[in-house]
Amino acid sequence: MSYSTRQREAILNTLRRADRPLTAQEIRAGANHDSAGIGLATVYRALKTFMARNEVLQVEIPGNPPCYEPADRGHHHHAVCEQCRQVFDLPGCVQGLDALVPHNFRVQRHDITLYGVCAGCDAAAAG
Ligand SMILES: [Zn+2]
Ligand SMILES: [Zn+2]
Repeated sequence: MSYSTRQREAILNTLRRADRPLTAQEIRAGANHDSAGIGLATVYRALKTFMARNEVLQVEIPGNPPCYEPADRGHHHHAVCEQCRQVFDLPGCVQGLDALVPHNFRVQRHDITLYGVCAGCDAAAAG
């Protein structure tokens, strides 16, 4: 299987174009608009390379397939639709987190995920 720079660029461009984290399958579908013939194995290989270079981050949400986003989007959180499993970006952080922290606890990192139903699934349910 050939593994060209062009294919890697198509994969990275797909992630940059997207306004939310994408699964490997979604990346493959998007990248094939730019460069035909990209298989899942190629997507995973490219993702591994990008993650090793800290260009791409894996977004891990329990119960969801792993998804990926460009690493330069800054600190933010995610919302996940419990029906279609799509993951969405939330802008920035939440206010007032400091108030939750016990005095004898030093926070090193945090992760916040909102679970719900996306507009598409909500509209489908409303018929
Ligand atoms: Zn949905
Ligand atoms: Zn935050």
